[in-house]
Amino acid sequence: MEILVDLDAIAHNVRILAEHAGDAAVMVVVKADGYNHGAAEVARAALNAGAREIGTTTVAEAVALRAAGITAPILSWLNTSDADYASGIDADIELGVSALAQLEQVAAAARRLGRTAIVSLKVDTGLNRNGIPAAEFPEVLDLLEKLVADGVVRFRALFSHLAMADLPEHPVNDMQRDRFLEFIAAARDRGLEPELVHLANSAAALTRPDLAFDMVRPGIAVYGLSPIPELSDFGLRPAMTFRARVLRVKRVAAGEGVSYGHQWIADHDTTVALVPAGYADGVPRPLSGKFSVWLGGARRPQIGRVCMDQFVVDLGENESGVQPGDTAVLFGGEPGHPHADEWADALGTINYEIVCAPRGRVIRTHLGGTR
Ligand SMILES: *Cc1c(COP(=O)(O)O)cnc(C)c1O
Repeated sequence: MEILVDLDAIAHNVRILAEHAGDAAVMVVVKADGYNHGAAEVARAALNAGAREIGTTTVAEAVALRAAGITAPILSWLNTSDADYASGIDADIELGVSALAQLEQVAAAARRLGRTAIVSLKVDTGLNRNGIPAAEFPEVLDLLEKLVADGVVRFRALFSHLAMADLPEHPVNDMQRDRFLEFIAAARDRGLEPELVHLANSAAALTRPDLAFDMVRPGIAVYGLSPIPELSDFGLRPAMTFRARVLRVKRVAAGEGVSYGHQWIADHDTTVALVPAGYADGVPRPLSGKFSVWLGGARRPQIGRVCMDQFVVDLGENESGVQPGDTAVLFGGEPGHPHADEWADALGTINYEIVCAPRGRVIRTHLGGTR
């Protein structure tokens, strides 16, 4: 079984985001191996399509992209105290700093190397996760001022992250904008002028142009999935297709049960196809009986329990003559294909988690793009 990643769809989606961003730059977020699409391949395709910068969580992710030949600015914003900041500084990675102790660690690594660390401050404007709270900001600025004066740090950006961007009209977005502006003003008052400031994820990039500031920071929309599926698909094209070949086709007589627990019993004679993809491969077991695949030119309902390595679909009388070796699309972006949003709805989750699921035995192949 395999996932195909269409780099032309990535490029298309980046162009849509750039249109919405207006004068603001686009930073493409490729954390978690590019939402499971391949960080380096996505970064390259996105930069070719006009994205300006790359965002990751860990320093290790960022350094790996540098090693893969990505020369654009790369920001890393989520690191534990044992992170290898020296490797990041050495690779010209911009380090997102969320606490005073972290700034001290980054500065110590820069001094050891005799290099200047590129630092961006991540401020907490209301998500209350990882970011510098307003109360701690003055002491961080005190230290930053000294480090910049000593040439230990270059102050690149100030940024924050939204809690409710998928509800574009929610007042929390405006509250976060106002608090963000206060952080920016506080830094400026100390003579610390960031080179740029950024706040918007995919949802805000597509619905709140007033929050674009100098750069937007989309992730999920780059991969062609809507951050607000109930609102719009925004003209995005899903980049990932998850598919598997039929392993065998057989008749099942009326009254026979299919798969563990006989959760599905044939009420008439039928034909079934076995697809060798299971929960170990990213087909969640709670999806049992709740999805269909595109196979033989039509949707075929999945029946019985999803197992670790396989599931079964009902072909009825198999008029289209499905055979072993035929390809079943689990989800994808073409007309007729099941959509990742359908899986998300059936599971009570979001499309982000669906595309992150395929793993292990699944082989990933990239299509399109410029090589
Ligand atoms: C994941 C992430 C993003 C991208 O979010 P999407 O909703 O996928 O667009 C942007 N900024 C930060 C800090 C993130 O962690």
